[in-house]
Amino acid sequence: MPELPEVEVTRRRLERELIGSRFKQVVPRVKKLRLPVPANLDQVLSGRMLRAIARRGKYLLFDCEVGWLLVHLGMTGFLKLLRSAPPPGKHDHLDFIFEDGQLLRFYDPRKFGVVTWFIGDPQQHPLLAEIGPEPLGKGFEGEYLFGASRGRKVAVKQLIMNSAVVAGVGNIYANEALFRARIRPDRAAGDLTPLECTELVATIRDVLKESIKEGDACLVAEETVAYYPQTFKVYGRSGESCHKCNEPLEEIRIGGRSTVFCRGCQK
Ligand SMILES: [Zn+2]
Repeated sequence: MPELPEVEVTRRRLERELIGSRFKQVVPRVKKLRLPVPANLDQVLSGRMLRAIARRGKYLLFDCEVGWLLVHLGMTGFLKLLRSAPPPGKHDHLDFIFEDGQLLRFYDPRKFGVVTWFIGDPQQHPLLAEIGPEPLGKGFEGEYLFGASRGRKVAVKQLIMNSAVVAGVGNIYANEALFRARIRPDRAAGDLTPLECTELVATIRDVLKESIKEGDACLVAEETVAYYPQTFKVYGRSGESCHKCNEPLEEIRIGGRSTVFCRGCQK
């Protein structure tokens, strides 16, 4: 699943290649993904310039002069940036063709992604209005997390994966950040101390930033803009030895999601 770093790496790559280009044509091949795909996209976008690409949580926000294209990659989606137009495959659901010949193709086998159109301030869009602060932005500080966790019996891992508390911290990065902060993922959120909240905010920021840096530096296949290989300290390493203490890592399920931690290092 594309997580926040993959979406941010995608945003940066597309920003470098596409800003200032004008849309020539939009070719939708599906009527609906997670939400209906607007039928008038070709009409509203043709001739418009792509002015900027922003990100909110895991949504990409394309500033198209007269309105905003909102894109979410869902569970299995990614955007391909192509220099030519090979025949579309079964899961290539939309093509955005630019006047300079570039083609942005939306691929999504499971169709949980979103492509929609919004006129006005995109932060007011119903999909975005309830999202909490950006993990890499202002507003996500130790004090904030301490306040947001008071009285909460929910596991701390679930709290930081709740997008109303903080935007876009997915399963992988929640596992990694809790390991670095030496906090057990199944602790009650309300039990965290102010110091632990400060530490956890710092480790969340660190794991996301490092992953973005890794993705930026990675030479990806020309047509793929979302995924890159990564190495993790705990995620996907159940039963393997802890990098700090050498004891085997344990796996439990929290909220139905795989959770790997070290009993010795995380309290
Ligand atoms: Zn350990």
